[in-house]
Amino acid sequence: TLYKREALERKLLYNQLQELRGNIRVFCRCRPDPQGLTLVEFPSDDQIIVNQNGSKKKFQFDHVFAPHCTQEDVFDGTLPIIKSCVDGYNICILAYGQTGSGKTYTMMGTEDKPGVNIRSIRELLRICQEREKIKYTTKISMLEIYNETIKDLLSKNPSNSLEIRTQGKSVMVPGLTEIEVSTEADIKETIALGEKIRTVASTKMNTESSRSHLMVTLHVNGTDSISGVVSYGTLTLCDLAGSERISKTEATGQRLVEAAAINKSLTALGQVFTALKNNTLHVPYRNSKLTHLLQPSISSSAKACVFVNVSPDAKSLGETLSSLQFGSSIQQVALGKATQHI
Ligand code: ADP
Repeated sequence: TLYKREALERKLLYNQLQELRGNIRVFCRCRPDPQGLTLVEFPSDDQIIVNQNGSKKKFQFDHVFAPHCTQEDVFDGTLPIIKSCVDGYNICILAYGQTGSGKTYTMMGTEDKPGVNIRSIRELLRICQEREKIKYTTKISMLEIYNETIKDLLSKNPSNSLEIRTQGKSVMVPGLTEIEVSTEADIKETIALGEKIRTVASTKMNTESSRSHLMVTLHVNGTDSISGVVSYGTLTLCDLAGSERISKTEATGQRLVEAAAINKSLTALGQVFTALKNNTLHVPYRNSKLTHLLQPSISSSAKACVFVNVSPDAKSLGETLSSLQFGSSIQQVALGKATQHI
């Protein structure tokens, strides 16, 4: 019986770990190098090797998308995670990396090669429409975090800054505009509106969009027409500010303030993942607006997917290695427990 109990305990632990493992996925995407010179190798579809002065460093992720991978390939990788949004889960997809590494290409994409944003929202709307017994309303909100202030990108007064309110486990931004979408044209129109407001605001403030975090959220409310059961899930798509270090001599005045704010929020993001990895009781979500807003989507009951975007060229080597290290530390959140105990 002792053996049986141990076996059962082991199974329970394993199930918990599997759950944890399924909750966070870390993908690496390497963009093509225009010069064709490359310091990276892809020995398998979950490994990337970086050559640094003759020494090779290997990193392992849930999946590695090499430069030839298409927008479809990348989106397919996110599919298992995003679908449960319609069942009331909070899902988030984040793109992390230095400016120019392909975060916006991955998330937003181009007119003829749309990225994860359009594809995932389109897919969720399709699933909602397919389920006849449940009536869904689907709305988009879009915000920007710049220097620790939140701006509503779909508002008529985007310059007003918004605050976060926490109630129990839910995190809200009172006053944030939500626009109902039901077709692909609606999605594109709404996102284009948000992007336009973002561009106007950044021009006015003399900053670049790569210095702020962009968050597009799809809110999915479902009501079962027979049982009356209500579900609420969200899909948060986040194009993070560039993770590059700015040298002290380069950054003065406004640039220095921006760099400090970005550093604070990306560090906070790493700390949240580390706290989850170590099973710490207190997860420091409140250390930045970014992590506070992401709290419902980076917790044990949520599902998250992080893209670590990297460039394969020589001048990006330092930043590439630091992004891969950041990704590896998150990867251990997903896998660390499993390797420690089993
Ligand atoms: P970031 O958002 O990280 O600053 P971008 O997404 O703007 O970087 O990418 C920089 C440039 O590289 C853009 O012109 C983009 O179209 C191009 N690019 C990035 N990734 C890819 C890719 N996988 N395939 C083709 N072009 C890419």
